[in-house]
Amino acid sequence: ESLVSAAGEAEERAIESALRPKNLSDFVGQARVRQQLSLVLEASRIRERTADHVLLSGPPGLGKTTLAMIIAAEMNAPLRISSGPAIQHAGDLAAILSSLTEGEILFLDEIHRMSRPAEEMLYMAMEDFRVDIIVGKGAGATAIPLDLPPFTLVGATTRAGLLPGPLRDRFGFTGHLEFYSTQELELVLRRSAMLLDLKINSAGFAEIAGRSRGTPRIANRLLRRVRDWALVHGVEEIDARTAAAALDMYEVDARGLDRLDRSVLSALITKFGGGPVGLSTLAIAVGEETETVETVAEPYLVREGLLGRTPRGRVATAAAWAHLGIEMPESAVR
Ligand code: ADP
Repeated sequence: ESLVSAAGEAEERAIESALRPKNLSDFVGQARVRQQLSLVLEASRIRERTADHVLLSGPPGLGKTTLAMIIAAEMNAPLRISSGPAIQHAGDLAAILSSLTEGEILFLDEIHRMSRPAEEMLYMAMEDFRVDIIVGKGAGATAIPLDLPPFTLVGATTRAGLLPGPLRDRFGFTGHLEFYSTQELELVLRRSAMLLDLKINSAGFAEIAGRSRGTPRIANRLLRRVRDWALVHGVEEIDARTAAAALDMYEVDARGLDRLDRSVLSALITKFGGGPVGLSTLAIAVGEETETVETVAEPYLVREGLLGRTPRGRVATAAAWAHLGIEMPESAVR
């Protein structure tokens, strides 16, 4: 069984990478970040220097990794990929940094989850292209300075606020990725459907886009589920009804809320009378880590006007009660 799911995951990853836009002009939406980034890259090409370090922030699945790959392609530079959780010791980072070649793009995903000593090593590397390799321990420890070739760091984080100030300050450019509009997601889906050779009418695209939680990764994932459904049911051209039927089966509701979103809202309403309740208490009630609730579920729920942040904690809005079909008592905070 694990073999089957491993093969399934490998296929998913292969499709995901096939659907990834390869250059800035194929990258849908995020007009502002795209323009700013394009200027940063163009300027560094003219100056014949490596580009400034770039920080990309935003919820998962909005295109941070894709943009890092595009930056490397546009700069015609090799790309190295690692992540904060993979770098637990300063030595792990030193090994990566010391093997970079000139102009290389280093992508660090979840950069806010790096260990403290690694973070401090990164400050110096970003600023002076230098690291101190510590040899030995205790009083006998010595620092051996090592020069690095100029490189461009592309850091990604689900929330820029999670980064310590000194690290944030060392990025020359910060791009905040926003949730995509339904129209933008339709463009993502049209492109993917073409690459996957799928027949879908306009209403079908709109239905899938509307349930994609403002997120291209989710749009592409839902598209594949709809594709499977259509295949099994012998549907030739996918319309809104087919898409809705398929996605209802996968527990994605008409507003795009998934199971985590709904369990956050339903805990807030059924266990805490709609709030206010502290984020960490809420996270415990749904059995998730605080960071997951804060960076994965909350931003979308807030954007959809279903969840409110108040100084005393999170509250469910009237729209949230309505969405879950529970009558809002007079006593609930509005
Ligand atoms: P993140 O690193 O922010 O979690 P990714 O860059 O891995 O997100 O994007 C997830 C998937 O969504 C990619 O495989 C890509 O196909 C798709 N995608 C993301 N952003 C866009 C975009 N702007 N246009 C088209 N497809 C996109």
